[in-house]
Order: sequence, then structure tokens, then C-alpha cells
Amino acid sequence: MTQNSPIPVVVVGAAGKMGREVVKAVAAAPDMTLIGAVDRAPELVGQDVGEVVGCGPLEVPILDQLEATLAMAAQERQLGVMVDFTHPSSVYENARSAIAYGIRPAIGTTGLSEEQVRELAEFADKASTGCAIIPNFSIGMVLLQQAAVQASQYFDHVEIIELHHNQKADAPSGTALQTVQLMSGLGKTFNPAQVEEKELIPGARGSLAGDNINVHSIRLPGLIAHQEVIFGAPGQIYTLRHDTSDRACYMPGVLLTIRKLIDLKCLVYGLEKLL
Ligand code: NAD
Repeated sequence: MTQNSPIPVVVVGAAGKMGREVVKAVAAAPDMTLIGAVDRAPELVGQDVGEVVGCGPLEVPILDQLEATLAMAAQERQLGVMVDFTHPSSVYENARSAIAYGIRPAIGTTGLSEEQVRELAEFADKASTGCAIIPNFSIGMVLLQQAAVQASQYFDHVEIIELHHNQKADAPSGTALQTVQLMSGLGKTFNPAQVEEKELIPGARGSLAGDNINVHSIRLPGLIAHQEVIFGAPGQIYTLRHDTSDRACYMPGVLLTIRKLIDLKCLVYGLEKLL
């Protein structure tokens, strides 16, 4: 590995809403070089990704062949990072392929099952290759989750509402599930029943996750990504809320993850493990 040479980066899902931001951020980072852009949007394949995302020519065409791009990336003097913002149906295979080529996946795509995460962890371990699964790259969300974990020690009643644009494929959001996971395992069962509840419409009380935490998902055009964690106790409500207004908010976390992955030899889950 050449010290101080730019980190080679492949972006998969490069023509999507998040992928476009990542292409711009990587192109502007002095310690990184964009070497590949993969997307299966047929009308954009072959076009210069820099022109597509509006940051000027980068001489990197959008390709629809991930394997060929990874094979090319594996020839670089310094092994690189693959940033994935695609779809829940393809992210697992993409990550396996990257690890097989020694390319470290930075996974932003949500919707991986617990079993898939376990399998990727084993695969990354065996290959001694870093892999980061980051359900939310925004530092504000990490801070919200830390506050939620702290509050969980003092409140017994809590519900989560996550709100996203209506193009989102998975529900609840990976971030909401991660929040639940962080708040669980404290040895308590949240939301002890006060009355016998009857749902007049199935799902009205949301879904139960982790240690009995109600999670509600809202999908509307006009939203980007938002989360509320609402704690209740007699005489008080404590609300934690995080709102994103621009996808640029994720980019400091994405760039930090790319830099940290270079020295990682196993899978990490969650941005808080890298901060
Ligand atoms: P999007 O639909 O705008 O973009 C996805 C892109 O991936 C599209 O251009 C599509 O053509 C491409 N694509 C899909 N399957 C592919 C494949 N197999 N190979 C190559 N390209 C493929 O979606 P988006 O809003 O950019 O979100 C993408 C994912 O990122 C979603 O799972 C979303 O939940 C997640 N997300 C994560 C974070 C985070 O902080 N981790 C933030 C926002 C969104």
C-alpha cells in the first residue's frame, strides 16, 4: 500500500439521490480519487458521472457492471472503498462481491436483515477486510441516539416515529431499527400495558421492536428523513427529534467512514463506532 496516495473510491448507485452527493463529495476530497461509478439506470450508462451530477467532467463513465469495476479497482496500488447507496435487494450481493475483491464496502443502503449482517461480518472477518454498515451517516442522528440510550435508563414509556419521503423501499427505516437496538438490552421491557388495547385498524399502534418499543413509519412526498423518539412519564414528555433538510448532511460521515475503513479489518455497524 502506498502511504498518502489518494484512496480509490467506487460509488455504486452513483446516479441516485445519495450516490450523486457522494460523487460530488469524493471528487472534492483531496485525499480521495473517484475511480468508478456504477448504476443500472440505462439512460445514464456510458455518460461521465461528473456531468451527470453537475460537478463538471470527471472522466469516470457510469457503468452497469459492478464485477468489472471491482476487478479494475482491485488492480489499484492501494486497495479502495466501495460506497453503496443502491437498493435493499442488491446491497448484500454488492458487499459480498466487494469483499471478495478486497475492496472495503461502506454501506449506506438500509434494509439488510440481521442474518445478512451476521454473514457479512463473518465474510469480512475471514477476508480480513474492513466493512462498514452505517444505517445513518449524519452526526446529529448519532447524538440523538446517544441521548435516547441515556434517557432509556430513566423512562419506561417510549415510542419512535420515523418519517421519510415516499420513494423509500424499506420500513421501518434502518435508522429507527438501529435506535431500537441501541435502546434495547437494558434489562427492561418498555411500555408496560396500562389497559387492554384493541386496534380497530391493524397496525394503528405501530409495530413492536426490541424491548417492546412501538415504531411508526410515515411516508410522504416533501419529507427527506426525520426521526422522533418520544419518552413519556407522569407529568412530562421528553422528545428527541432529528430532521434532515439536505442530503449534504450525510457527507461528513461518508468521508469519515471511507478514511477509517482503510485501517479496518472487520465489520463495524454504526457511525458511532467510528467517531
Ligand atoms: P435512489 O433510488 O435515489 O438511488 C438508488 C440508485 O441505485 C438508483 O440510481 C438506482 O438506479 C441504483 N441501483 C439500484 N440497484 C442497483 C444495482 N444493483 N446496481 C447498481 N445501481 C443500482 O435511492 P437513495 O435515496 O439514494 O437511497 C439509496 C439507499 O440509501 C436506500 O436504501 C436509503 O434508505 C439509503 N439511505 C441511507 C442513508 C444513510 O445515512 N445510511 C441516508 C439516505 C438514504
